[in-house]
Amino acid sequence: MKAIAVYPGKAGSIHLAELPMPTLDDVPNGRGVLVKVLRVGVDGTDKEINAAEYGAAPPGYDFLVTGHECFGRVADVGPNVTELKKGDYVVPTVRRPGGSFYDQIGQYDMTTDETYYERGINLRHGYLTEYFADDPEYIVKVPQGLKHVGVLLEPTSVIEKGILQAYEAQRRLKIWRPKRAAVMGAGTVGLLAALSLRMRGLEVTSFGRKTAPYRNADLLAEIGARYVSTTETSLKDGAAKYGPFDLIFEATGSASVVFDAMEHLGKNGVLILSSVTGGGRDFSVPADKINLGFVLGNKVTVGTVNANREYFEAGVYDLSRAELEYPGFLSKFLTHPVNGLDNYKEMMRLLTEEKTAIKVFVNVASE
Ligand code: BGC
Ligand code: ZN
Repeated sequence: MKAIAVYPGKAGSIHLAELPMPTLDDVPNGRGVLVKVLRVGVDGTDKEINAAEYGAAPPGYDFLVTGHECFGRVADVGPNVTELKKGDYVVPTVRRPGGSFYDQIGQYDMTTDETYYERGINLRHGYLTEYFADDPEYIVKVPQGLKHVGVLLEPTSVIEKGILQAYEAQRRLKIWRPKRAAVMGAGTVGLLAALSLRMRGLEVTSFGRKTAPYRNADLLAEIGARYVSTTETSLKDGAAKYGPFDLIFEATGSASVVFDAMEHLGKNGVLILSSVTGGGRDFSVPADKINLGFVLGNKVTVGTVNANREYFEAGVYDLSRAELEYPGFLSKFLTHPVNGLDNYKEMMRLLTEEKTAIKVFVNVASE
């Protein structure tokens, strides 16, 4: 069976590898689910793995099969699987449990272990292959009516986690009725965050660098979100005009924006941080001012990475609602298809060069 893999630590080593066909017996207790991979999305993490900035091979292998944004169809189930059946459309989760308390209670995305296991990223093979087998605990059913956009569920799950955890943190307020949200960044994550917040009924202002009109700003307008270019309007002015922001979702990939967002978050507000910033850069910030605002304004910041199945399920809900409310909208995110695993070079080229892509994805197989 074919798979797209890299040699972790060796930049630009993307290649086709061979894996044995998985079987139901790979999963203990008759709980195996065999899934045929239909589509796999790729993102910045895959780019970093191929650039040898990230990622590790599973024990016993010198290569790592990449791909963590998977959509597939159940091909077979073991005798003790009741949750799923042959033919179901599904999306698998990414993280697998380690040893910490949180791992043991199904909150593996909250692990306190140093070592974490992520399929397609760290120490476990991913989904850019033909089939995989796993336990139903890690496989989430996707309704028929979402199959054309099911590949967007994994990135959505990470956003859902951030938002749900922010709401959870805001239970400190006893009653919290957020009205206005800002989203920093209008890339894939920023767009999905704006969508999820709109689905929760918030007024959303998305900030991005580019000046409108441009495609992503138009997409935001379609779901009733406002787009503001920071080239023309600073966050400070944007917050004065369209705020105060009860919630800010940061998804620019730039840590300097984080502190800007802290400074302009509304009173009692919550800031969600989702950018993985591996760069190690330094810069100065108005620290006294930011701290004072946090203390006097009772604000919180919450970091978020990865997601457990609860957040994938929340993602199914939001994507379904979006598809009902704005039919055809989500499909517009699927900008750059690649056909077949053999075209892995084209996949990586699009991922690195196509700056305007919302989602590059591989059509691995048709049903
Ligand atoms: C994935 C997450 C993962 C994170 C860090 C992201 O690209 O979507 O599931 O936890 O990378 O490895
Ligand atoms: Zn990802």
